[in-house]
Amino acid sequence: MSQLGEGTGIVKGKETLVTSPRIKLASDTQPVPRKAYSPAWCSNRLESIYERDEDWLEKPQVEVFITQPAYSCICLHAQSDLQNEVGGALTGKWCQDAISGSQFIVVDAALPARHTRYGSAFLTFTSDSLLAFQRELETNHPGKLIVGWYHTHPGMGVFMSGYDTWLHEHFFPEHYQVALVIEPRSAQAGVFIRQPDGYLDARRYYGLYELNGSHTASIIDWQNLIPREDPDE
Ligand SMILES: [Zn+2]
Repeated sequence: MSQLGEGTGIVKGKETLVTSPRIKLASDTQPVPRKAYSPAWCSNRLESIYERDEDWLEKPQVEVFITQPAYSCICLHAQSDLQNEVGGALTGKWCQDAISGSQFIVVDAALPARHTRYGSAFLTFTSDSLLAFQRELETNHPGKLIVGWYHTHPGMGVFMSGYDTWLHEHFFPEHYQVALVIEPRSAQAGVFIRQPDGYLDARRYYGLYELNGSHTASIIDWQNLIPREDPDE
């Protein structure tokens, strides 16, 4: 679960409710997807159980590729604290396949949040962490976008809490922005992606593509994501 707080928030026990966010992690100018070719051919596709459910045919707005350096950074951060939630921003590119027209994002860096308040069942980004994301993006990742965020749920499973959904809607409102949730104790993960009509399912999640440049083994053996078999093999 996560919260995003500012100094002006209403403190309610452990919970900080923010009524008027002033910082938005989206560009003022509307970006357009880059024309590119899907790197699916050099990636390991990991599917969630929901994607294998024929009764759930919802196609996500974007598919998610994560480069191995970014993947390593996220997983190491996730496993660095098995008691408290940790999280950060995902940066990269938003693309449209030149042949199929389908959209995808490529996450090529993760920005661990440094200015957070956290506990065993909540994570609060502060306005300082959001400003730090923007500064780091401009300084070290010029031309890249914030394509989403990630955070952990130690011992709680993979879902989007009410706070997570609130945060996602207010701070990651672009249709290509996604939320990666990791349960580090049991090695489970899932990506929450909007559907074409903007709806975000808070329970059913998607898998991801581990972009590794070749058919090498995945660096993480997720307990709840299943490698998709290549039909040509
Ligand atoms: Zn959460």
